[in-house]
Amino acid sequence: MAVFTENQKIQLLSDLVAIQSVNDHEEQVATYLQKVLVDHGIAAKLLPVATNRANLVAEIGQGGPVLGISGHMDVVSPGEVSQWASDPFTLTEHDGKLVGRGAVDMKAGLAAMVIAMIELHAAGQPQQGRIRLMATIAEEVGEFGSQAFYEQGAMDDVSALLIGEPSGYNLFSSHKGSMDIKLTSRGQAAHSSMPELGANAIDPLLDLLHQANQDFRQTDRYNDFLGDLTFNTTVFNGGNQVNSIPEAATAEMNVRTIPEFDNDQVTTTLQKLVDQANDQGGQIEMNVYMSQNPVQEPKDSPLSDLAARIGASFAGGPIPKLALPAVTDASNLLKDKGHQFPFIVFGPGNESAHQVDEFVDRQMFLDFTSLYQKLFTAYLEN
Ligand SMILES: [Zn+2]
Repeated sequence: MAVFTENQKIQLLSDLVAIQSVNDHEEQVATYLQKVLVDHGIAAKLLPVATNRANLVAEIGQGGPVLGISGHMDVVSPGEVSQWASDPFTLTEHDGKLVGRGAVDMKAGLAAMVIAMIELHAAGQPQQGRIRLMATIAEEVGEFGSQAFYEQGAMDDVSALLIGEPSGYNLFSSHKGSMDIKLTSRGQAAHSSMPELGANAIDPLLDLLHQANQDFRQTDRYNDFLGDLTFNTTVFNGGNQVNSIPEAATAEMNVRTIPEFDNDQVTTTLQKLVDQANDQGGQIEMNVYMSQNPVQEPKDSPLSDLAARIGASFAGGPIPKLALPAVTDASNLLKDKGHQFPFIVFGPGNESAHQVDEFVDRQMFLDFTSLYQKLFTAYLEN
């Protein structure tokens, strides 16, 4: 049932883009969406996570099964505003494109899900089962919002999950995990003419990184769909003067993990190398300061098959099922769900996320507001 005109749908997206939720202030997005939902007779609740930061949960229908739908409310920084053709926080239309920070990643997906829920609810849908919206904070940095949903049990009774990240007409059910790790090596400063009076902090760290490159790269652990684990030292600092033995050195690594070589195994492998280095006189400490699990769910599931079929009529052709390069909130939301859980990333999109002049195609955004309604009811009636 049409509740919104096309212009009203775009106005809703425009209102969301105008809220500058750059890794903060998601509470304003949540409050705005709560009001829109409540105005249309749908209960919606803010779940505060930190100051100015609240998740939002809303539900329609009754009984089971429960279809989970999720999107994040934060956006990345617009960067140098002067490089944008128009103000990043004013949704601006030209040539069928709606331009603005967060337009595609992912306020369009979020708006489309909310509009779909409202229009379904107005039409007395779904007749069986429930649709639960979980709008998250901090997806771009930290993923604390999805972690909070996981800890609160919001996923416990969910039987399938759709995340509306900007896939466009592609379907994703798997992605690698990601870890950020820092190693800090301590030594003892001394004049470089008398190194025996000091301890070089760089040496043991270099040896360790060399060994780690071998252990992580020369492995036969492989995932058919996601490929290899990748391990890279991305930041290295040590010493401060050419004629002094360095007393400190640090290295930071980013690891992209796969189910066959997962985050726990990476931590164990690296800790072993740290222990070895320390047994030989090093003083190295390891800090895993970010860890998101890999996600691998079947590419063919009741949900993905329906999405492919229903989506194809909007896309005007078949919809490929691929592996996603980036991490999503699914790393947290699917923590206890095993590897047979129906999960898709499917939302209005293109590759302009995080870029200057980020945009969503106007027609694709509007199409997803209808596509979601067909998909959600088809899944629950299945
Ligand atoms: Zn995103």
